[in-house]
Amino acid sequence: MLEIKNLHVKVEEEDKKILKGVDLTLPAGEVHAIMGRNGSGKSTLSYVLAGKEGYEVTEGEILFMGKDLLEMEADERAAAGLFLAFQYPIEIPGVATMTFLKAALNAQRKTRGEEELKVPEFMKLVKDAANQLEIKQDMLKRPLNVGFSGGEKKRAEILQMALMQPSLCVLDETDSGLDIDALKIVSDGVNHLRDANRSMLVITHYQRLLNYIVPDRVHVFSDGRVVESGDRELALELEKKGYAEFDGTAA
Ligand code: ADP
Ligand code: MG
Ligand code: MG
Repeated sequence: MLEIKNLHVKVEEEDKKILKGVDLTLPAGEVHAIMGRNGSGKSTLSYVLAGKEGYEVTEGEILFMGKDLLEMEADERAAAGLFLAFQYPIEIPGVATMTFLKAALNAQRKTRGEEELKVPEFMKLVKDAANQLEIKQDMLKRPLNVGFSGGEKKRAEILQMALMQPSLCVLDETDSGLDIDALKIVSDGVNHLRDANRSMLVITHYQRLLNYIVPDRVHVFSDGRVVESGDRELALELEKKGYAEFDGTAA
């Protein structure tokens, strides 16, 4: 599903190297977690996957379902089935959540060369998904994320993810200070969407999140690269021993 090989990335503006040779293979159907200290480059990796401006790949490659991801525009990535959830969701005043979701879904279909969804079809899709995720209809009428509680923002994000039916979901939950409710919303949603044809990359520094979303593999990030990979036990070990054991800063 996703293959990252020797990825080197720098911030264009400051000519500063952030990723220094990331190697990571995520097979179809698996959920992998990336953990690591603040500043180790986890979010930078998600920005590069998203195609955010200002980050230059100086070496290495990213294959998404066998295709060169770095050659694809952001809309092409979404159409190909990549979905990214970030820690700071955008607020869109004046646009009902429902309208936003319809536009997002139809943009994806358009890039794929598919017809726009008719209103009744869309309404059925969104209602079914909202019911499954226990989202109240009145939330869908409110402008996206404006005045939403942390939990509501997470629900909106998971709802969008469910509607887009992505092949690869990347969730960067670092520093987002998820409370227990939000943790449960995210993990229930993610677990609900786990599928043999869908992979997920969950970026977090909360061991706690991984009690709910049990990953197939855990990768430890340090100073811009993966320094250790293992099964879910690695996350527990990390919590017990701290990052220093893994990144060579232990005494
Ligand atoms: P993490 O998500 O693991 O906390 P980040 O990817 O956010 O780490 O940041 C990694 C490092 O890169 C940090 O030192 C951060 O300050 C730096 N960095 C990230 N983006 C930028 C940017 N646009 N400009 C300057 N420095 C950046
Ligand atoms: Mg950070
Ligand atoms: Mg981060």
